[in-house]
Amino acid sequence: MLMYDIINDKRFGRELSDEQIAFFIKGYTAGDIPDYQAAALLMAICCNGMNRRETTTLTMEMARSGQMLDLSDIPGIKVDKHSTGGVGDKTSLIVGPIVASCGVPVAKMSGRALGFSGGTIDKLESIPGFQTALPFEKFINLAGSTNICLISQTGDIAPADKKLYALRDVTATVECQPLITSSIMSKKIASGADAIVLDVKFGRGAFMKTYEAGLELAKGMVDLGEQVGRRTVALVTSMDSPLGYEIGTALEVQEAVEVLRGGGPEDLRQVCLELAANMLHLGGKGDIESCRVLARQALENNTAYMKLWQMVLNQGGDATFLNEPPTSVFTKPVLAGQDGYVSSLDAELCGTASMHLGVGRATKEDAIDHTAGVTLAVKPGDQVRKGDILAELHTSDAKKLAEAQQLIKDAFVISEQPPAAKPLILARVTRDGVEEY
Ligand code: URA
Repeated sequence: MLMYDIINDKRFGRELSDEQIAFFIKGYTAGDIPDYQAAALLMAICCNGMNRRETTTLTMEMARSGQMLDLSDIPGIKVDKHSTGGVGDKTSLIVGPIVASCGVPVAKMSGRALGFSGGTIDKLESIPGFQTALPFEKFINLAGSTNICLISQTGDIAPADKKLYALRDVTATVECQPLITSSIMSKKIASGADAIVLDVKFGRGAFMKTYEAGLELAKGMVDLGEQVGRRTVALVTSMDSPLGYEIGTALEVQEAVEVLRGGGPEDLRQVCLELAANMLHLGGKGDIESCRVLARQALENNTAYMKLWQMVLNQGGDATFLNEPPTSVFTKPVLAGQDGYVSSLDAELCGTASMHLGVGRATKEDAIDHTAGVTLAVKPGDQVRKGDILAELHTSDAKKLAEAQQLIKDAFVISEQPPAAKPLILARVTRDGVEEY
């Protein structure tokens, strides 16, 4: 078999056979197929797509390119959760403890920041001492005995995705439905959970820019998960403006704590409760309505917050940090230039500003500034007067303030009329179909 023929077949829109897809993934993972040929095939897939069978084969070959975790020593139905990425998205820090406190085990591998969107592992590492690289036996023991353990993804989970993602990032082939589906689902399948809840984001701060594109991606991923024997549900949620008010690592941990203590911003709380209810439902805790009640109770009776404490202590972290808001060396307000209403707030620009302040990495080796980030003071729909604070910037490096300040100014659009209210959760996709909210 020749890689040239595989590229040529896809270039002319022909279906690839299972053998061709397996040849590509095995050869590329082993280093036998060069980047330039892999890049050509990725571009041909972006232009001509893949059908359901091709996408499933690609996903399973990527999942099997490394270790397939066996979580069967943990009793109960293990439910994983994945967000397609967003700004201010600290839902895993809240949803994990809610679900675990209701008796469903969460044994979760999470990622680091990718582009302008944050990563759960970087946020957890802002807690002094918190260990995200634990031996597999300890991960299984903690998830089995306390129902929760969150660790960083080991290098051996879907290594084909790791290589392909890096190549997609530099060849303009990230935004492509079969490639996103196979990338996310291969990691979830290899991570061993019995059931998966997906938060598929769309909007300015997401890979999918429209609701229709987000819904198509959600349907494809649910279909694929169910086909390979994993119960899968997806919520399609808006990511036009950041979730909550805090963007950063330690800043987001503090906001997650607020929600777990029964408060916090309404948008963040709403998405977390719906994700948690769906995880509890797949975890066998009853119909979706009773699972919504269970999730709310876990916030009201403090059990979810106590579960976060327990997880932090178990993973070597200083839990007292959960009660101490971070303080940065430099802070700077961004002020409104006119009276009016915040009509929109660009999530991508907010994420980029926060990266500039020290939250992201320009290279893999860069250290994250855990005190850095953006605290929003207002969100779309709020009325402001000229000179009011729109947001506060935080960083340890004063040189980073000017560029971030401009980005945040550009992110806010202020107009005379208030914007129409927009729903946050638009649809729930299950094997039975699409339920629009
Ligand atoms: N997240 C992933 O892990 N992969 C993608 O392709 C997009 C988002």
